[in-house]
Amino acid sequence: AAKLRSSLIRVHQEIATWYHQLLMKHPMADAARQYLKSRGISAEVAKRWKLGYAPPNTQPLREWAMKNKIGSGLLIEGGILATSEERGDAYPRFRHRLMFPICNDNGEVIAFSGRVLEADAKVAKYLNSPETPLFSKSKVLFGFDKSKRGISKAGQAIVCEGQIDTLMVYEAGFQNVVAGQGTAFTEFHAKALKRQADEIVLCYDSDNAGYKAAERAFQALAPYGLIVKVAMLPKGEDPDSYIRKEGVEAFGELVKHAKDFVDYQLASVGSRRDLTEMRERIKFAEEMAENVKLFDTPIAKQTTIQRVANSLGISEEIMRKLVTKAEKGSS
Ligand code: ATP
Ligand code: MN
Ligand code: MN
Ligand code: MN
Repeated sequence: AAKLRSSLIRVHQEIATWYHQLLMKHPMADAARQYLKSRGISAEVAKRWKLGYAPPNTQPLREWAMKNKIGSGLLIEGGILATSEERGDAYPRFRHRLMFPICNDNGEVIAFSGRVLEADAKVAKYLNSPETPLFSKSKVLFGFDKSKRGISKAGQAIVCEGQIDTLMVYEAGFQNVVAGQGTAFTEFHAKALKRQADEIVLCYDSDNAGYKAAERAFQALAPYGLIVKVAMLPKGEDPDSYIRKEGVEAFGELVKHAKDFVDYQLASVGSRRDLTEMRERIKFAEEMAENVKLFDTPIAKQTTIQRVANSLGISEEIMRKLVTKAEKGSS
């Protein structure tokens, strides 16, 4: 198994280098270079993140594998080649995509995420490597190899949704940024961050998927005693679009003034619920109780109970009871 892993790492390193070389100079990658430009990603940045281009058809990969004496078995194990019943033989999983290498803590490439260059409702915008002996999507944080030192230096990690956001935020000078794979944030991610930081600033897209993701991330992070804050982007923006529109300084202000998660919830509930209704207030209080129960210390629980009760105009006593009920209800 150790031998398979090291072979797979070697293959990923080599293919990342190949994708990267194609992106930087092959005529086949003209559209990809154009796309980079349209997104404001310089050649220097593409180099630092070893971005790449996956060719549109099978032939280039086949030739590359032959030349480098890499068998298709290994490429299938690594998820570079995909197999399907209908197609018969194996074919490249990533075709005509901008490739983002996903690295382990040591900066070794262990998987890829590939983005389409042209919007097309029929294909997924991002395609990731499958679960392999190297890659488990619930365990790897994109950008962690680069940002680890920055995170531990700042005692803070900025968490965003995706590859482009991570890359743009990092290049804007915030070298303490990572992303889960998509919106899923797991306890493995929380543990990895806990070793370097005590504060997390969630910087998810300001849309419904992002709000839900922020809540789930909070639920993964709070049990580890991490302080969870939320950077409040204007509706419809993500970190990349915001930095491009408003600039690095404005983004820095958002991070600096990130709201404590509970205050964020209290501030944003108004747009979801009519809190003049007592019944709606109680429902929201019950939801908040589910969050409060996750705090790892009595003091964090107590202060939050106070804040929520005050803000909703209910007694602390009632709020405390709701939390106790939530604690009993959970296993
Ligand atoms: P872009 O700015 O290039 O459109 P994004 O990061 O803003 O990218 P979102 O739609 O906000 O894209 O998605 C956030 C993240 O979720 C992506 O970076 C990617 O990691 C993941 N993701 C998005 N769409 C898919 C998909 N169809 N399959 C798997 N993962 C996806
Ligand atoms: Mn999104
Ligand atoms: Mn987005
Ligand atoms: Mn985006």
